[in-house]
Amino acid sequence: MLKRTIKTFVARLFAAPAKGPKRLAQSQHGIDPDLVSRHAFKVCEVLQQHGYEAYVVGGAVRDLIAGLEPKDFDVATNATPEQIRPLFRRARIIGKRFKLVHVVFGREIIETSTFRAGDSQKQQTDAHGRILRDNEYGELLDDVNRRDFTLNALYYDPITEEVIDYHNGVEDLKNRVVRMIGDPDTRYREDPVRMLRALRFAAKLNATIEPQTHQPIQKLASLITNVPESRLFDELLKLLECGHALKCLEQLQQEALVPYLLPFLEHSLSDPEQRLFLEIALARTDSRVRSGRSTSPSFVFAALLWKTVQEQWAKRIKAGSPPVQALSEASDIVIDAQSSVLPIQRRYQGDMREIWFMQPRFERVNNRAIWRMIELPRFRAAVDFLQLRAEAKEVDSLMAQWWMDLADSDSTETRAAMIEARPTAPRSSTSSRRRRAPRKRIKNTISQDSTNE
Ligand code: ATP
Ligand code: MG
Repeated sequence: MLKRTIKTFVARLFAAPAKGPKRLAQSQHGIDPDLVSRHAFKVCEVLQQHGYEAYVVGGAVRDLIAGLEPKDFDVATNATPEQIRPLFRRARIIGKRFKLVHVVFGREIIETSTFRAGDSQKQQTDAHGRILRDNEYGELLDDVNRRDFTLNALYYDPITEEVIDYHNGVEDLKNRVVRMIGDPDTRYREDPVRMLRALRFAAKLNATIEPQTHQPIQKLASLITNVPESRLFDELLKLLECGHALKCLEQLQQEALVPYLLPFLEHSLSDPEQRLFLEIALARTDSRVRSGRSTSPSFVFAALLWKTVQEQWAKRIKAGSPPVQALSEASDIVIDAQSSVLPIQRRYQGDMREIWFMQPRFERVNNRAIWRMIELPRFRAAVDFLQLRAEAKEVDSLMAQWWMDLADSDSTETRAAMIEARPTAPRSSTSSRRRRAPRKRIKNTISQDSTNE
């Protein structure tokens, strides 16, 4: 305990700026004011007009300086939630533990929070040093020092266009270095999620992790198990949806974090065929994210676990289960095993199953049943998934394209004509129940044995 207090004290000494912050002008940080949300500007302007300090903070400032489009804009201020709310027409206080204000402008929400203190003396921690409560208001400097990395601790005043930089964050950002504020070991113990964040920002910004910031991660990896599951799941999703998913997963593997998050991934990444599938899947996700299109968590998880499901499916068939039932059993086995480490939210689990269950049907379904399939809520996602499998040479690409065209066509007439002229003649529904499906020359062992419709 004493050792940690001394360590925290030393960290504070290092964290404390020698001579106050740098104030960087537009020419030094390069933020294009036209790219700053006018609503974030408005929130800062109104707060400042009422005598408060107010800055755009966090990811938005980092991304603007790095030349990326920010996902959203957050504001930090010394006004309390009760002082902030009456200043705006549509603003609501949210949060129980630490209150903050959502200022609403049409579809944009500016999350506005009061400077928070990061003084460990007042914080409750668990036996490993993880912070349990972090809900004290503070001053600007407290707020700066409680942030994770120097490049995330930049405060942009949109009115003066100055960036306040206590920890050389702009320099680190321009040099592409992820550097922890304070003593990395202590800060990872305070919040182990920071390990995942370090990897994510390094991948996203094509940055290196500064050696001292990097060094403790492997050693502390297991502390991630102390983080509440829902928060861990959110951070894992952020890794998968940051536009550099494969890089992030490889980093997770290198830092020995994979067993605590995605237990099957270790095997999948080391098996060449499975790895290829993951590479193709994640490259698709990454390119969607980078071109500003949406991705769905269920699709990404369906892809991450698909090869494992296939392995289990083949085993269940070998053990005598009929194909459809075997797929259902395989899905349960894989989802349960994943859940024992980090549960995937139930609504995503349902979607994943639907995506998986439609895969064998694409190859076997008869023309009449196609109409029912089209109506399924995850039909489009399942067709996308089929395309992914075609890209990985698991299924015939012409067949996958036919389904894609069907999904893309918007009139019933076009669909009816397509189904009528369907190239691979389906078996009649009655006879197919009795006869075994002919073996196709497709690499995937499981699709050969798949369902009768
Ligand atoms: P993203 O682009 O993913 O939103 P972000 O940096 O904005 O990245 P948020 O989770 O939105 O991430 O957090 C906003 C800011 O809050 C961060 O930039 C950082 O300054 C601070 N922050 C977030 N999480 C932590 C943490 N675990 N420890 C310390 N500071 C944090
Ligand atoms: Mg953010």
